[in-house]
Amino acid sequence: MHLTGIDEGAAGSKPAGKGAQLLELPARFRDGDAGAAGAARYARGSASEALQAKVAQAGAEDAFFVADLGEVKRQFAQWTQLLPRVQPFFAVKCNPDRLVVKLLAQLGAGFDCASKGELEQVLGEGVAAERVIYAHPCKPASHLRYAAARGVELMTFDNGDELHKIRQLHPGAKAVLRILADDSSARCRLGLKFGAAPDAAPALLRLAVRLGVDVVGVSFHVGSGCQSEAAFGDAVERARRVFDSAAALGLRLTLLDVGGGFPGAGELGGLDFASLAAVLRAAIDRHFPPAAYAHVRVIAEPGRYFVASAFSLAVNVVARRRVEGAAPAFMYYVNDGVYGSFNCIVFDHQRPRPRLLSPRDAPLFASSVWGPTCDSIDCIMSDGQLPELQIGDWLVFDNMGAYTLCAASRFNGFNLSDLVYVDTEGALL
Ligand SMILES: *Cc1c(COP(=O)(O)O)cnc(C)c1O
Repeated sequence: MHLTGIDEGAAGSKPAGKGAQLLELPARFRDGDAGAAGAARYARGSASEALQAKVAQAGAEDAFFVADLGEVKRQFAQWTQLLPRVQPFFAVKCNPDRLVVKLLAQLGAGFDCASKGELEQVLGEGVAAERVIYAHPCKPASHLRYAAARGVELMTFDNGDELHKIRQLHPGAKAVLRILADDSSARCRLGLKFGAAPDAAPALLRLAVRLGVDVVGVSFHVGSGCQSEAAFGDAVERARRVFDSAAALGLRLTLLDVGGGFPGAGELGGLDFASLAAVLRAAIDRHFPPAAYAHVRVIAEPGRYFVASAFSLAVNVVARRRVEGAAPAFMYYVNDGVYGSFNCIVFDHQRPRPRLLSPRDAPLFASSVWGPTCDSIDCIMSDGQLPELQIGDWLVFDNMGAYTLCAASRFNGFNLSDLVYVDTEGALL
């Protein structure tokens, strides 16, 4: 077997594409931890130039991400254009990458944080407390105290015990009632865990009044990876009914939070953002007509939407096995897997598909792709068609920016994948 790339790599670096050499991050981006992936670098030029430059480095073998901050900026611009009435609060859990958070802060986004750690990160970037929603309906006391100390007031709740806790630990909070939405079509259902049933809302509002907790609005989440535009419209209507219940109690609510669940760009089989935005705009205008509801501010908590398409992951074929049988078939072993960045297969129900970094016209064979650990659950693609790969070849998985690195482990002694930034819009670097 010819071990393509290994000898050449060790002998010295191949010439990279023009303008695509890897550079140290500018000093202002280097303070502290350079991100989940360690010492990140950046490349001038496009994501594909950065992919080529990185694999051309001497001894290149480790898996790595290329993150295009320009793509995040383009997604932000599209949001502003298609949902002008809805202010996005980026759901940090989806991808807490430092430069992504910095960029979104600079663009004027708000942030959805769900823990003390996320609050610390976002406030540490200099984001004002008013631009943060603590969007977790079940908060540990110490995290709630931290929010109070730092002046983060906006927060969700969905049960009476949480209202008692808020009254005790953060009496100045502005509480947002999270209601259940129909998430039956979503890839990740969140309603199994959170959200007050619509008929429980009036009693919760009454309890809040009795406790003196200031309820300012309603939120919902249609589920992550939502596959139904109608779910958004339906949830906006449900929210409106809670506004009506509140009005009957003399409460004038001022915030509608339509949550997350928006598709990432380039996702196979996902919703189309433009048509979803049209449905959502229409639902908001119908149930919260601007003339009568000018006092209502509308926000959202998109996570996946901003980051999915901004990150590509390159992995190296470290071993392969020819499968015995009539027709040739191959198993390939690569150096990131389900315990690492591909945890999105287990937790986020993604089905990443690879492409060859250097495409070629060649016959296709039945192929499976496996992660590096000793566990057989560590399978990235169980049945696909690929040209015959050699050890040392590179595969690229696009749309890997959401729910990937943030939940990766070092199980079995394997490192987290490295990270290279590019900035095709001159957004930050
Ligand atoms: C995870 C989460 C989000 C983000 O969801 P996406 O599907 O990534 O947009 C928003 N809000 C809350 C409360 C969440 O738990």
